[in-house]
Parts: sequence; C-alpha cells; structure tokens
Amino acid sequence: MQNIVAGNWKMNLTSDAAESLLKDIVAKATGVSCQFIICPPFPYLSIAKDLIDGHPNIALGAQNCSNKTSGAFTGEVSCEMLKSSGVEYVIIGHSERRAYYNETHELIGEKLMRALENELIPIFCCGENLSERKAGSHFDVVSSQVKESIFDFLSKDQISKIIFAYEPVWAIGTGETASPDQAEEVHQHLRQCLIENIGDDGNQIPILYGGSCKPGNAKDLFQQKNIDGGLIGGASLKADDFVQIGRSF
Ligand code: PEP
Repeated sequence: MQNIVAGNWKMNLTSDAAESLLKDIVAKATGVSCQFIICPPFPYLSIAKDLIDGHPNIALGAQNCSNKTSGAFTGEVSCEMLKSSGVEYVIIGHSERRAYYNETHELIGEKLMRALENELIPIFCCGENLSERKAGSHFDVVSSQVKESIFDFLSKDQISKIIFAYEPVWAIGTGETASPDQAEEVHQHLRQCLIENIGDDGNQIPILYGGSCKPGNAKDLFQQKNIDGGLIGGASLKADDFVQIGRSF
C-alpha cells in the first residue's frame, strides 16, 4: 500500500507565504517515496496546482466541499468545481467542521457521495474527543461515525475508494499525541470494521493517523501495522518538518 502524508493547512498563511511554502515543499519532496497531498485554503488551490504540476509525488487536496451539486448556495464550493480545478482529494468530516460548523453524520455522508460522484478521493476523518476517550468509548464513537456517514450510505465499491484518517480530537493542535499503541488499537478496530463491511478489500484501504504528528514521533507511529501515513496540521506549515515526516516510513 502507498504511504501517504497529507498536509491540512487550515485557515493559515497569506498568498505570498503559501507560494513560498509550496516552492520549498516541492524542492524538498523530490525523491521522497511517499505520496504527499497538500490541502491549502480554497483561494490558493490554483496557485498550488501550478506549482506542483507534474511533480511525481505531490497531489492537491481541498479542506472541504459542499454537499450540494450546484446552484444558489452562496459561499459554497462544489466537488465539480474542485475536480475541474485539478483537485484530486478532499478532506471530509474533520473534527473542526463537526464541532464549529455542526456537521452531522448525514451531511458528511452527503459530502462523501458528492466527492465520489466527481471522482475525488475523500479523506474521511473520525475520532473521539477527550471526554469520550476518558469514558473509554473511543471504539464506539469511531464505529458510529463510520457507520452513520459511510456504511449506511455507500456501496462497497465507493467505500474502497476512501482514505480514512483517525484523528483523536484531544490530540489535534494540542501537542499531545496518541501513543503508537493507542493509535494502533483504534486503527486496528477501524480495519476490522472495514473488513466486516467490504471483505478483504478493507486491507487495502489507507488509514492515516492525525493529531500532533511531527518529525519526532512520526516514525514510531508509522511503524504500526495499521498506520499507513499521517494527516498533518501544524507541522505541514513547515516544509522541513512536513517532508521529514514523509521520510519516516
Ligand atoms: C489536523 O487538524 O488534521 C491535525 C492533525 O492537526 P495537528 O497536526 O496540528 O494536530
């Protein structure tokens, strides 16, 4: 399976800073064997597209998409628009969108459907918050997120095209990382859910870890059997750190 390191820039950087970060990443990522995916804010997608064009292992992703196809939805960005702008991947179900924009399982399921209809590869995020972790309900939380947005909506064929990302909310942007064992047991659980639903093909689906992943901890995380790469927030804003994470397999 291809190892993947995806960078979620969130709502950061000016246009000039984005351009210079991209140039730095493009120069440094050459020759690194993993697949990098860069997810800048919407206004920088076309700059990014031009700068990474033709690069063998850097692809473009968006951080969000609409659940609608087209029409009078002011401020929304459709999957068709993303696809026609050269975007290949889209992050769906990030915990910040669930928490601050009230995205429900159903809405996330609709977004997944729109992405797949437009041949975008969704990076589907799931994970428990701190109180759910403390209550020991993390496996149940992840199971229900996956069931209600994916298994209840999508066919086996569609599911097999998704990249999964386990992102414990208590580890996102906090500097606190899930230990390799803590992450692996949830990844293994997710793998089991996938196999139960789509059979052996579930073994081929990438499951990324996200949550304060950085050069100092990436290797230990990526050595785990069911961790196929990372979804990186803060550390994706520094070219050296981001590319170093890509060298950690
Ligand atoms: C994220 O938001 O997807 C993320 C993993 O952020 P960070 O790496 O900053 O914890």
